[in-house]
Amino acid sequence: MTKAQTAEPITETVYTRAPYWNDIPDEKWMDWRWQMSNRLNTADELAKVINLTDSERKALTSKGLFRVDITPYFASLMDPDDPNCPVRRQIIPTEKEMVPFESMMEDSLAEDKHSPVPGLVHRYPDRVLMLVTTQCASYCRYCTRSRIVGDPTQTFSRQEFDAQIEYIENTPQIRDVLLSGGDPMVLAPKLLEMILSRLRAIPHVEIIRIGSRVPVFLPMRVTQEFADMVGKYHPFWLNIHVNHPKEITPELAAAADRLTRAGVPLGNQSVLLAGVNDSVTIQRKLVHELVKIRVRPYYLYQCDLVEGAGHLRTSVSKGIEIMEGLRGHTSGYAVPQYVIDAPGGGGKIPVAPNYVLSQGPDKIILRNFEGFITTYTEPEDYDPHAIKAQESLIAPRSEPGQEGLTGLLSGKKMFIEPEGFGDVHARGGAEHRLRSGELKQKWQPLGVGSIEQPQLEEPKEE
Ligand SMILES: *Cc1c(COP(=O)(O)O)cnc(C)c1O
Repeated sequence: MTKAQTAEPITETVYTRAPYWNDIPDEKWMDWRWQMSNRLNTADELAKVINLTDSERKALTSKGLFRVDITPYFASLMDPDDPNCPVRRQIIPTEKEMVPFESMMEDSLAEDKHSPVPGLVHRYPDRVLMLVTTQCASYCRYCTRSRIVGDPTQTFSRQEFDAQIEYIENTPQIRDVLLSGGDPMVLAPKLLEMILSRLRAIPHVEIIRIGSRVPVFLPMRVTQEFADMVGKYHPFWLNIHVNHPKEITPELAAAADRLTRAGVPLGNQSVLLAGVNDSVTIQRKLVHELVKIRVRPYYLYQCDLVEGAGHLRTSVSKGIEIMEGLRGHTSGYAVPQYVIDAPGGGGKIPVAPNYVLSQGPDKIILRNFEGFITTYTEPEDYDPHAIKAQESLIAPRSEPGQEGLTGLLSGKKMFIEPEGFGDVHARGGAEHRLRSGELKQKWQPLGVGSIEQPQLEEPKEE
């Protein structure tokens, strides 16, 4: 399989099928519509494929649980006898899903707050997340959007798509649109193409991307026709979601092959999950298998503080340990960025081991992955201003208030203060000689050179 990858396109064959479906003709099995309409969602259906534990059965028959639906293809990857199977843990609920934990939240990323129109999340200055459906091919138990995903009554209308697109048209700083959901790849093919073509028609939208687990849950959806279709809207990027090497099948490899041949750069976003992939060895195997099918590991997410996912969370230190075990030990291409999507809507925050040990005016002290400690000597004659003329040729596309620490570094701002900071430190009491007057100006830099200097008197001759 991997040999063919380097030369000829991978041809379609059935490799992954549980015995329960042995009598299904190959053409049917490889038809994504058949897979979608034959998904498993009840305890009785699942019991035909795996030996359910009491805990799984109890969860599956309880009320109010986040939706269960599993494609026959992906169900075939589960170990029927091992309840700790890493594929099974991702998609089969257990009783533990019903155990609340203290820090859990309904909308932990505060996406709804950042939503100017239904389904559009505008969190970052230059890009938006466009939720185009609430439906998926199968449902991950740790879904960050389980508050809306899976609910067929919560889906988006034509008017809402229009409002989303209109917002993007009217917001010129948006240069990157990320379609997600739910899973955009379960949309009716015509509808998805309509959205892509309308986005491509917006002059300031530079790149379009999709985040999808369909290539993993339902690789047969990535037909040649699909690859040709998205290839019409370049630059188009796609991120998939693989958590464990068991999910990298010949079918997924063939789907990835069709996409990369159509010029679509592929990335992977995985979630760090207890009992699934919380090990350096498994993560290394995962990223190696990914780069073999030309998928670049993009993000490794810390599990969100979402209801039902408590038992799948790991400590952050486990994630740092995994990153320590990847960087330097393997190809840079195979190393994802480990991020925590900040509760409260802070966005993705990278978390990594420390490599900078110390710093002085002319030297920085670093350590490498092996523990080798070295110094890098700073240049003595570095002049960052030489680039200014070139910078002025590039029109800024930033949004005020989001410069963050780059604003501090560039000197636009001197500090960032927490809310209420100014009030706490204006210590009441009466106005007096030392504090009255230009209270504010006192704490601003004098900007030597920019203000008028007092003229020195010429020394008088005696
Ligand atoms: C993750 C995310 C993006 C895209 O972030 P990148 O770091 O550019 O991949 C955009 N908007 C929202 C709300 C997101 O959560």
